[in-house]
Amino acid sequence: MRIKIWGARGSVPAPGPETMHYGGNTSCVEVTLSDGSTLILDAGTGIRNLGLALPRVERPIHILLTHLHLDHIQGLMFFAPLFRPESEIIVWGPASPEASLRERVGRYISAPLAPVEVRELPSHVSFKEAEPLEWDLGPARIRAQSVNHRGPTLGYRIDDGDTTLCYIPDHEPGLGAPLSQLEDDWISGFGLARGASTLIHDCQYTDAEYPNHLGWGHSPIADALEFGQRVEAEKLVLFHHDPLHSDDFLDGLCGDIHARWQELGRDPGQVELATERRELEISPQAAPVGA
Ligand SMILES: [Zn+2]
Ligand SMILES: [Zn+2]
Repeated sequence: MRIKIWGARGSVPAPGPETMHYGGNTSCVEVTLSDGSTLILDAGTGIRNLGLALPRVERPIHILLTHLHLDHIQGLMFFAPLFRPESEIIVWGPASPEASLRERVGRYISAPLAPVEVRELPSHVSFKEAEPLEWDLGPARIRAQSVNHRGPTLGYRIDDGDTTLCYIPDHEPGLGAPLSQLEDDWISGFGLARGASTLIHDCQYTDAEYPNHLGWGHSPIADALEFGQRVEAEKLVLFHHDPLHSDDFLDGLCGDIHARWQELGRDPGQVELATERRELEISPQAAPVGA
């Protein structure tokens, strides 16, 4: 399995000279499975560039939405394959008692926010509610599970052969209690992420910023690192950068993050801040942690 990050910014696009390195586009990750087929995680503004780069192929395009906050769907309407009659696009996302996934996405792709309606899109688009569910896509087993955020939100686990990718971009796993005091079973997303070869996880706030954002649905660095360590993820990619965090600011956090990951007994080379256009090969777990 391979991934390419097309957007790692949280909340709102943050383009500009001060975010050139980590990127200003919001959540979107391309996953290439072992048979060469492609899955797309979230449809933030990063999906626009992905759509332009994606080769025209006959197989369906699967887009797995974690939730419907604007930073995870805003690029959908600018995804070139949506406007090709030959495209078949399947959009997966969380269920809600309030309305169907199609109706909820349609609140964005409709007047007055958009010039088109979902029914007017030239491609074949279908919507599937993914929770709680496991299903196969090509060689991969996909698992969707609710995680703690604001509103119905999923994390995804993708198992392909002996490699596992877990994607939880918006997540506050220890809301209400220090993560260190919680038993594994009480930590949101624990089972989903357990033993992942690569975990892509929310890290929107520094520890100093977090107290002013309790309950906003995002993680401070301390919780992101502890969550990654507790679930024994082989590699941790910290994601969903706050729009206020410039390249210089994020660069300044790197040394501290590597040192803290090492203090947790982990390889400091196996934690990084997500960077737009970064490509990563997902390797299988080398050995159980502590073995
Ligand atoms: Zn978000
Ligand atoms: Zn969100």
